[in-house]
Amino acid sequence: MPKAFLIDTTRCTACRGCQVACKEWKNLPPVPTKQTGTHQNPPDLNPYNYKLVRFSEHMVNGAVQWYFFPDQCRHCVDAPCMLVASNPEAIIQDADTGAVIYTELTAKENFDDIRGACPYDIPRKDPATGRIVKCDMCIDRVRANMLPMCVKSCAMGAMNFGDRAAMLQLAEERLAAVKKTFPAAQLLNVKDVSVIFLVADDPKKYHTHAVADAAPRQMTRKQFVARLAAPLRGLADTANS
Ligand code: SF4
Ligand code: SF4
Repeated sequence: MPKAFLIDTTRCTACRGCQVACKEWKNLPPVPTKQTGTHQNPPDLNPYNYKLVRFSEHMVNGAVQWYFFPDQCRHCVDAPCMLVASNPEAIIQDADTGAVIYTELTAKENFDDIRGACPYDIPRKDPATGRIVKCDMCIDRVRANMLPMCVKSCAMGAMNFGDRAAMLQLAEERLAAVKKTFPAAQLLNVKDVSVIFLVADDPKKYHTHAVADAAPRQMTRKQFVARLAAPLRGLADTANS
């Protein structure tokens, strides 16, 4: 059964428990970091941080407000990164859950193509193995009927996971509740992703790639096939007229 996350940013306190839990479960090494004038650390996703709580500051009604955004792969329903891979076995989608999984064959893929296709700028390349890497939905845990580690670690209820239908329902309920206080609240790219974010304000205030760009950076296979099919449809129309 397709699975989904609901990430309710209105409940996130930026404790970074999810970020640390992900790193621990995946046994990812520490990364040298630097102070960039923000509490966000590390400064960006990298091959050893599949989850990153992004911090942004904005002036709202004369006061500084924090916007927290626990960023990760969205496990797109029709994943653009998968559709541009030259080897169809390099990036696969788990039929049961919808998880988009990067295999060791990604080491032979063109990194710029894969990263460029992602509307959320998620994939990173591991210099040690040559593999392209990202969140895998903790597929090992999910197959064992356990929650993804980041969800398990969240004490605030910001991270939620379950059957897609249940998460969609929860998302609509939370949106209706949050909108009473924050009229600009919205769910991001709901139909296209398995990681649904609820934000209280303009998504661009949270992160440049919080919401998918209106135009994809690379043509998807579906778009490509549709473009190829267009002249054939024209020929068929002519033959039938
Ligand atoms: S689902 Fe697993 S791999 Fe993905 S961000 Fe959460 S803890 Fe990390
Ligand atoms: S968010 Fe990016 S990396 Fe993740 S499935 Fe979608 S296109 Fe691929």
